[in-house]
Amino acid sequence: MTTVVLAVALIALGLVAGPFVGIVVDRAVDRIRLEPQHRCSACQTGLGSRSLRPVLSWTDHCPSCANHKGVRYPLVDVGTVVVFAALGLRFGWSPMLVPYLALGAVLVALSAIDIETHLLPNVIVWPSIVVGLFLILVFSGEFDYIDGINSALLGAAVFGGFIGLAHVVHEQGMGRGDVKLALLLGLFVGWLQPDLIDTTRLVFWTILLALTGGGILGLAYNLVRGRGRAEIPFGPALAVASLVIVVVSPAIAAGVAI
Ligand SMILES: [Zn+2]
Repeated sequence: MTTVVLAVALIALGLVAGPFVGIVVDRAVDRIRLEPQHRCSACQTGLGSRSLRPVLSWTDHCPSCANHKGVRYPLVDVGTVVVFAALGLRFGWSPMLVPYLALGAVLVALSAIDIETHLLPNVIVWPSIVVGLFLILVFSGEFDYIDGINSALLGAAVFGGFIGLAHVVHEQGMGRGDVKLALLLGLFVGWLQPDLIDTTRLVFWTILLALTGGGILGLAYNLVRGRGRAEIPFGPALAVASLVIVVVSPAIAAGVAI
């Protein structure tokens, strides 16, 4: 029963949060100032507060150019709901759910921005690292999980170090933004395990999953596209792989999944 209540609460929270994640994506992609409305992706006309209705507002037409407001919005809404629901399954009513929900919302925004612009803006990534570290320190202290702080820092060092090395070796494939994103992801993947060896193992599974998933998607995209090679943004692969590992980490720790 309590799981059902949590699931309903998180789906509702995801539906409410999704349109606001969409506003952050707007700001980064179209350089629109933060405002409580979405804008038409074709002509930038403001669509009013009604445009913040999750998913459904996609069918709205722009009063100026009659276009749909754009597929970005419903995808961000649905992405936020899916991520929140998956994290609810993983953490249940644990207080740890709160920082991971914050991470989930940031990752949906960054993935959408990276797909559209091939950039991971410093103005989002750096504050997320600072706030993430702050949340990790506060929650670890509050819930007597001091080992988790070392694990989070090690996770950031290993994840950031590996992706940083990949950036040096292959600058076109792995951008500087990916290195900073890896620092953020390493904090939260690392925080899951008190043991430092388990932490390192978890980070390497995340990297392997991101490289495999991102590589297959990139290959498939270039095959479908047919001509030339396109640079595929790697941020979403890193983000999705990290969220998957966060959700399945209890199975990994129990030796079930791997
Ligand atoms: Zn328009």
